[in-house]
Amino acid sequence: MAATTPLYDTYMRAPLRFERGEGVWLIAEDGTRYLDFAAGVAVNSLGHAHPHLVEALKAQADKVWHLSNLYEIPGQESLARRLTQVTFADRVFFTNSGAEALECAIKTARRYHYAKGHVEKFHVITFEGAFHGRTIATIAAGGQQKYIEGFGPKAPGFYQVPFGDIAAVKDAINDETAAILVEPIQGEGGIRLAPKEFMQGLRELCDEFGLLLILDEVQSGVGRTGKLFAHEWAGIKPDIMAVAKGIGGGFPLGACLATEAAAAGMAAGTHGSTYGGNPLAMAVGNAVLDVVLAEGFLEHVREVALVFRQGLASLKDRFPDVIEEIRGDGLMLGIKAKVPTADLLKAIRDEKLLAVPAGENVLRLLPPLITTPAEAREGLARLERAAETMAGKSGHAAA
Ligand SMILES: *Cc1c(COP(=O)(O)O)cnc(C)c1O
Repeated sequence: MAATTPLYDTYMRAPLRFERGEGVWLIAEDGTRYLDFAAGVAVNSLGHAHPHLVEALKAQADKVWHLSNLYEIPGQESLARRLTQVTFADRVFFTNSGAEALECAIKTARRYHYAKGHVEKFHVITFEGAFHGRTIATIAAGGQQKYIEGFGPKAPGFYQVPFGDIAAVKDAINDETAAILVEPIQGEGGIRLAPKEFMQGLRELCDEFGLLLILDEVQSGVGRTGKLFAHEWAGIKPDIMAVAKGIGGGFPLGACLATEAAAAGMAAGTHGSTYGGNPLAMAVGNAVLDVVLAEGFLEHVREVALVFRQGLASLKDRFPDVIEEIRGDGLMLGIKAKVPTADLLKAIRDEKLLAVPAGENVLRLLPPLITTPAEAREGLARLERAAETMAGKSGHAAA
């Protein structure tokens, strides 16, 4: 039988085709406008066709696209310098994706102990419900059977413990432990927020046992929660951090950030990437930072987040048979549904609103960080109509 598509069947795609985007809007081939609160899964941090990003990409396209890391790339140095100035980090390695940023983070942690003569310390403690990517190592780090099954032996050296359980983490630490890897907010896992005390507890355990704290801020970083990085809310600093998604605003770009000490083992020749830090990506990454680091931008994110928070709380009160709980922080929001998320997703899509499913029957709202309060209210109105439809189906809405 001939295949109906030449593409792998790996994705369950919605039957939608978009031609272009403008800010928070995506415009389909037939001209229908959708409010995009999926934002390419938290990637389009500045929405679509942001003028500053378009200009930066076009200007670089006229000069040079690709060089490889055989030569010095000034855009890498400027972007890395800016990232180190506003974070805990001293060193940066650029990648093309989140999973590659995690690969670099894991390699950096293992190499740190190796360089100190501790070849046995390569084990990484991770958490149930985690998602770190789809490479052979990152599916082992995430630990989810549905992603591991059928792809050969699980890469060794990753141990999952329950998310938020500091005693379980302490119990799991032994002489072979190199690092703890955690998302400050689990994204794919269902917008599960790590409590502040838990993050602080992980930092303390790392200090006590000489481990490296690796944060996966691929989804939660670059302004998404109203701080530049989500871990800032807990007042702690990691040793290593993986960043991607929002940093490229839609251009494939990731980064692994580390302290001088943590990166000490990554000598010349130990790691590399053909495309990583390519001039086009650096031009866009620098342009994203121009906007996100501008005075008042993160305050704007926090203000819009409040509009969402209040609106979603009221929807939860009005539709208790549809919405069980509102989760998340900033513009990384989750609606834990009482109805199947696939049905709710379909209902909101009928209202021309886009969102992303996640674990634990949660619908993720990841609006672009440039969303205005008026656009947030428009989204909430569409959600309300979808909730009404769902409540009508389940038979009873609250008064
Ligand atoms: C998306 C994501 C990744 C993987 O990023 P890719 O660019 O798809 O490789 C890793 N960690 C988290 C938390 C993510 O959200």
